Amino acid sequence: MRGRPFFVAARGYEWQELTNRFDMLLDVRNVIRMRTFFLVGASSLVLAGAAMVYSAHTLAQSPASTPTVSPQGGAAGQIASPFGAPTQRSGLNIVVLDPAHGGTDPGARGTGGIRESEIVLDLATQVRRALELEGFQVVQTRQGNENPSFDDRSAIANAQRGAVFVTLHISSTGLPGTVHVYANSDLATVTNSNGLIPWDRAQAPFLGLSKKFGDLVQGMLVQRFKGSPETAQTAAVRQLRTTAAPAIAVEISSIIVEDRSELDHMAPGVADAIARGSAAFKPSYVVPGVPGALP
Ligand SMILES: [Zn+2]
Repeated sequence: MRGRPFFVAARGYEWQELTNRFDMLLDVRNVIRMRTFFLVGASSLVLAGAAMVYSAHTLAQSPASTPTVSPQGGAAGQIASPFGAPTQRSGLNIVVLDPAHGGTDPGARGTGGIRESEIVLDLATQVRRALELEGFQVVQTRQGNENPSFDDRSAIANAQRGAVFVTLHISSTGLPGTVHVYANSDLATVTNSNGLIPWDRAQAPFLGLSKKFGDLVQGMLVQRFKGSPETAQTAAVRQLRTTAAPAIAVEISSIIVEDRSELDHMAPGVADAIARGSAAFKPSYVVPGVPGALP
């Protein structure tokens, strides 16, 4: 079993947020190692994520006092009740924003030397502000020029309840001045004998919701950015595949602009569209208050 340190990419309040969620289990059960998995039940496909499997390793075996989570749903381990979140949430109130790329991965590069990784980070700041004005709590997968792995980024989203996920990109193609929204294309839902969905199919139960969310955001975008599609498209987006939440990619065209200001001028409109689209989606995504304990 590959054990990946779950908190590697979590910083600042995100750490706090995640740590709070785990406190109850840690205190009550003295659980040292935890693993995420995705629960599939006849009536609970969209409850998917957000439950915990933990294995009863001892403290001495644990490399650190912080819990670790393996994205690969556990072959070993026992099943605990899903997140006993101290604050009960009953609906969408968190948006996980993912400024794509970063660190050694600059993403798309323009002829003038502009980098996708830098533009999307600045864009995220504006999207964040717009979302907060709509009353959402925002969690970012990176705050600076780091490059968390796909799994790290999904793990941040998958640790939330009542969250949606938005990954931000600048394309290297497409009509400049347009914005495209993508939901993941179809994924076969595969479950193993324990009824768990593999980590790399985590998005499968959420595809319908992701498309709906994407359509709402795309609908806001086309009002402002003429030439953009009317509805969200689907594509095989790696970052979305492992995300157990309604999840979309928002891609601005394009990196092939004369200078960066052309893209920066689009940021407020993109931010506003994502915020209003998220607010419009909110009634569609009701998160069960108390997920059932697992056998
Ligand atoms: Zn990109």
